[in-house]
Amino acid sequence: MGISRITTLTFSNKFMMCGSGKKCGVSSVAWWLLVIGGLNWGLVGLGGFMMGNWNVVNMLLGSWPQVEWIVYILVGLSTLLLLWGCKCKTCAVDTK
Ligand SMILES: [Zn+2]
Repeated sequence: MGISRITTLTFSNKFMMCGSGKKCGVSSVAWWLLVIGGLNWGLVGLGGFMMGNWNVVNMLLGSWPQVEWIVYILVGLSTLLLLWGCKCKTCAVDTK
């Protein structure tokens, strides 16, 4: 329990440092969705070679296809948001 919390904190700090510093809630959520989407996609590829379904999103939400698709759409939208850059005050101040 304690260790996983520390790992989570270390991870989020690392990702914060990759970015421009402080992020608003929307950008933070977008970051995490992108990370989840990226890891999931990596697992899909690995799972393909291992002859298994390693699509975690599909495993968790496979019984609700619509929810699964919404997750993918949200990951896509998060990518667009991060590519385009969030225009809110918190992010604008820290971006250059
Ligand atoms: Zn923002």
